[in-house]
Amino acid sequence: MDKNVKICIIGGGPAGLAAGMYLEKKGYENYTILEKNDHVGGKCHSPYYNGRRYEMGAIMGVPSYYAVHDVEEFCGITHDGPQLNRNYKDKNGTVIEPFEPKKNVLKIPRLLKMKKQVTELGRILETKYKGYDLNGHRGVAQGRYDGFAVTPEREPVSGANENLKDLAMPFKDWCEMNNVELTQDIWIGPFTSFGYGYFDEIPAAYVLKYLDFQTCMNFVRINLWTWKNGTQYIWESLNDHLKNAARLNSDITKVERKDGKVYVTVNGEVEEYDKLIVTSPLQFFPNYADAREDESKYFSKIDYERYDVLAVETKPEDHPEISYYVFDNMTPDRLGHLMVYYRRWKDTKDQVITTYALRKHKNTDEISYDTCKEMVLEDLKTMKNPASNIVNEQSWYYFPHVFSEDYAAGWYDDVEAMQGKYDTYYAGEVMSFGDMDETAEYSRELVERFF
Ligand SMILES: Cc1cc2nc3c(=O)[nH]c(=O)nc-3n(C[C@H](O)[C@H](O)[C@H](O)COP(=O)(O)OP(=O)(O)OC[C@H]3O[C@@H](n4cnc5c(N)ncnc54)[C@H](O)[C@@H]3O)c2cc1C
Repeated sequence: MDKNVKICIIGGGPAGLAAGMYLEKKGYENYTILEKNDHVGGKCHSPYYNGRRYEMGAIMGVPSYYAVHDVEEFCGITHDGPQLNRNYKDKNGTVIEPFEPKKNVLKIPRLLKMKKQVTELGRILETKYKGYDLNGHRGVAQGRYDGFAVTPEREPVSGANENLKDLAMPFKDWCEMNNVELTQDIWIGPFTSFGYGYFDEIPAAYVLKYLDFQTCMNFVRINLWTWKNGTQYIWESLNDHLKNAARLNSDITKVERKDGKVYVTVNGEVEEYDKLIVTSPLQFFPNYADAREDESKYFSKIDYERYDVLAVETKPEDHPEISYYVFDNMTPDRLGHLMVYYRRWKDTKDQVITTYALRKHKNTDEISYDTCKEMVLEDLKTMKNPASNIVNEQSWYYFPHVFSEDYAAGWYDDVEAMQGKYDTYYAGEVMSFGDMDETAEYSRELVERFF
């Protein structure tokens, strides 16, 4: 493609900013990033409180976050945040140690079986499901893999593997089919409590792309990255280092694609571009763009989670000593309850605690935002860490995905076949998975494949 091509990128979150960085690295400098908010970072949102930054959105990374590492290198920053640590409570607020055999004598047979199944899961992922962990979902529903290895070098890899078709199944069914159902006890912590839905509804492909075996083990060993100034700082730093910083407060009211050009109406003015990269939610793209029939059809299939975060103060004597997972509350029958709460700073009790809850499951009615909030505040009392004040709150449009039927029917291959068709490219969370690295990495691959 001509290096002077004029590119419009919608969205100044990780996907949009990373697209800018990788375009620039490849010699494309004629790009514009349009961000509707007054700040960059999207769901990496780290407001200030008492002189420090806390996390309303993304919190952590793992050592295999190669795209995030590219960004760190590009900006000369590193993951310098407070070490993560956690304990467990049951739904009644009692501290438990669910994986410690000595504390769970009656559960020893189950724990031993679980350990064996984790080993078995590692084995089948490397053999039977070879190719399962590539970024993006190209070919999976057709029994193929096609992409770049998850290594710092990202060498191209592709091949046929009929077994990959199984990954369209909900993760629960997939585990049962492979006789590794107890591994869900481990995978559930960094999946459901991190807002990514329930194992009986979410296709295994998403679970395993994000929590590939190594990544899950990094969670178990707490080999994780955080950033002192918050995850938002990663993207603010990137924005500061790009040749063309994102244009904030950009209100896009219309996108029209005709005669090989893309016309974008921003804050009332029409701007002309050659190509468009959409990293904002594709589900809402037809609300302001001249979406074609195929775009409307496929994007209407996208569902998403309602993931609610509260930032609360506590009295010093009620401050939790550490972060807690509440496994009992990670099943669909406990929808709306507190699943995890995060104490970020160990050295002080004058900072906020953040709480996390889901309020939608595929098969049940959505719980209202206010009801969920009340439930979480009640749960904090049960946990003996009552809130004295709410400092911030947010319900996120979270983890856009499709369900098993559409996944198996080839949603991803059909959408991938549309890349570039209307001078438009699709990136952002739904195209691979809703975390910082998968979205940034997808943008890297998009630039590699099409520009
Ligand atoms: C509570 C929470 C915890 C999380 N924890 C982690 C974690 O620990 N680790 C991790 O890796 N990830 C985590 N994530 C997920 C991670 O933040 C997201 O996957 C990532 O930010 C997605 O990047 P994106 O650019 O695709 O989308 P977003 O971050 O959503 O960015 C999209 C951007 O587009 C803008 N936009 C939307 N519509 C328009 C429009 N019409 N015009 C212009 N701009 C528009 C938005 O304002 C936003 O800035 C978490 C997210 C949340 C909410």
